[in-house]
Amino acid sequence: MYNAIVIGGRCAGAAVGAHLARRGLRVLVVDRSRFPSDVLSTHFVWPHGASYLNRLGVLDQVRAVTPAHTRVTVVNNGIALRGSVPEELLRNQFRLLHDDDSGITTEYFSVRRHVLDKILVDNAVRAGVEFREGYTVKELLQDEDGTVIGIKGRDGTVERAQVVIGADGRNSFVARALGLEKFDERPRCTFAYWSYFSGIPDADAQIHRRGRLGMAMASTNNGQTMVLTWGPSEWAEAFRADVEGNFHRALGLISEEAADTVARARREERFYGTLDQAAYLRRLHGPGWVLVGDAESFKDQCTALGITHALRDAELAAEAVGRWLGGETDRDTAMAGYAAKRRSQTAAAYYDYVCTLAEMKPLRHDELQLFAILRGNQAEIDRFIATHVDVAPVSEFFDPSNVFLLNDTAKESSRDHSAFADFEATYREHQRNPFPRVAAEATR
Ligand SMILES: Cc1cc2nc3c(=O)[nH]c(=O)nc-3n(C[C@H](O)[C@H](O)[C@H](O)COP(=O)(O)OP(=O)(O)OC[C@H]3O[C@@H](n4cnc5c(N)ncnc54)[C@H](O)[C@@H]3O)c2cc1C
Repeated sequence: MYNAIVIGGRCAGAAVGAHLARRGLRVLVVDRSRFPSDVLSTHFVWPHGASYLNRLGVLDQVRAVTPAHTRVTVVNNGIALRGSVPEELLRNQFRLLHDDDSGITTEYFSVRRHVLDKILVDNAVRAGVEFREGYTVKELLQDEDGTVIGIKGRDGTVERAQVVIGADGRNSFVARALGLEKFDERPRCTFAYWSYFSGIPDADAQIHRRGRLGMAMASTNNGQTMVLTWGPSEWAEAFRADVEGNFHRALGLISEEAADTVARARREERFYGTLDQAAYLRRLHGPGWVLVGDAESFKDQCTALGITHALRDAELAAEAVGRWLGGETDRDTAMAGYAAKRRSQTAAAYYDYVCTLAEMKPLRHDELQLFAILRGNQAEIDRFIATHVDVAPVSEFFDPSNVFLLNDTAKESSRDHSAFADFEATYREHQRNPFPRVAAEATR
């Protein structure tokens, strides 16, 4: 009999397992994968994600093999803003969510999943977790009231626990077994293609938007750089007809400088891609079960937060389950606390922000004006970056009462940028799919 069984042993599962084991609980984590192994991900970990890794005690291990940076450059239709997530905003967020701001770091990195997930698994084992890899759960055991009381593996073994935690990803077995519906689904999302290049010097990450396309470059493990491009799902089929050609064509449309850099570099791996990043939420908990990470919610990765949010959920869920199983409070009160933090207005507003961005509409004049106004105001650039990656509430930065945005002098000076020349013609041009010729050829 375990206190907790966790199904899935990556960012959500290995982390929640380690937190619970450190509280002295008896924990079994199972995963059908073997480690080290990869999952489809562009693996950015923003400063709050890095801070969660620090709180788990693995930041130094990640940093030893992965370049870390604090500054990031965000470029919208040529308007470049360079900044970092302020430490104070990070501290506020950790105090609000966890009543504890220890282990904060303002660094971010892009760590390959076969590196990160293995570090997390080993850490969970060190914390006292019993870990079974290559173990597929094929049944949930429930008592006559429907309370989940254990698991049955494909190999026929049966294990019982006070709680079963589903950390088993988007296609969650636990959600299917319990018949949990998705809700607040947002089907409009981006497609994304990326690969790994050598010959590009280690540098701050760059994130570009131009019209309906996006591009990012980030230094990752083994001296390589991950280069990613994305666009609206309506263009995915056309893009897919010639991934390599359209990848370079997209880079050229977004940033000639970045396209030149990549053209001179050497591609070290195949292209990876996804066409499906539709967003959803699921119920968080019920009798004998809890969901964390992608099993509970997913949203488009145009802001690259799945890992960071999985690590956050793992800590929040472990705090709640730990209080309940440790006898500090009853199950309902503990789980209501977890739900209140995960379903706050701030979380809902961020979900909406990402789902709207994921539609990849061309940048409007007022949006460009905002980015132009921000130039030269480092504190507001930093606050914008913190907002974009969910460290500060979107409702505060984009609130009309943010008087800074209404400053006439700033608005006047913002007009001095090439992004505003021929705005209307450019806006219309950006609506058109730049990849249709290739799609037409492929279907002939
Ligand atoms: C294209 C793409 C790009 C992304 N880029 C980023 C990014 O840049 N930054 C970022 O933070 N996030 C990114 N994400 C999101 C991120 O990858 C996920 O949010 C994260 O992996 C969620 O972690 P998890 O532990 O919840 O689930 P997963 O990582 O999916 O792990 C689930 C585990 O459960 C196991 N499992 C499932 N069913 C069973 C079963 N029946 N029995 C046993 N084991 C089982 C699986 O083997 C798997 O190992 C991206 C996602 C996609 C699709």
